[in-house]
Amino acid sequence: MSHILIVEDEAAIADTLVYALQAEGFTTTWLQLAEAALALQASSPADLLILDVGLPDISGFEACKRLRRFSEVPVIFLTARDAEIDRVVGLEIGADDYVVKPFSPREVAARVKAILKRMAPRTVAPVEAVHGPFQLDAERVQIHYHGQLLALTRHEFRLLQTLLGQPERVFSREQLLDAVGVAADAGYERNIDSHIKSLRAKLRQVASGSEPIQTHRGLGYSLRLI
Ligand code: CA
Repeated sequence: MSHILIVEDEAAIADTLVYALQAEGFTTTWLQLAEAALALQASSPADLLILDVGLPDISGFEACKRLRRFSEVPVIFLTARDAEIDRVVGLEIGADDYVVKPFSPREVAARVKAILKRMAPRTVAPVEAVHGPFQLDAERVQIHYHGQLLALTRHEFRLLQTLLGQPERVFSREQLLDAVGVAADAGYERNIDSHIKSLRAKLRQVASGSEPIQTHRGLGYSLRLI
């Protein structure tokens, strides 16, 4: 069950949010001041903050800036119509979403759910092994590179998994074929090159400046953890 911290100085608005969020199964804490919310978040963190921009002590924007020094918790801003709408500023200082008053509390609850759902894979997915910028999850047959899930074919996955197993080691094409699980005949040896080529293209899409897969002419390939 996720816990939501609501920071809003108007009781009537906070009440509707507490009601809507509890109806969706969330637990809630309501505070009227930003300073108190920052202190609470530092000591017993909530899973998401709903932060009013116009608070009596410091603005929600300022509170979010301070929050970001120690927490990556998702933040939804509540902004007043006309006066405080500053989507760009809000998103620049690290908010995940914003809602303009007057709003539908059910709509806010739906956005809370959507943000927490988006967060879930990052925090729940078991990380099997981290090799530099690569995260290998053998059970799910997934590899993340710089935090991004690579869309790999089965052969590409096996290739990258093998290279990751012994970084800097030079693997011959034959050894890589073995790892991929294909018979090593002449035709397939060149096939490794085409798998490597498409693998490189996929890695480049994530980090265009890096070339982690090294070619060793006449020998084969190795992987650097960059
Ligand atoms: Ca206010």
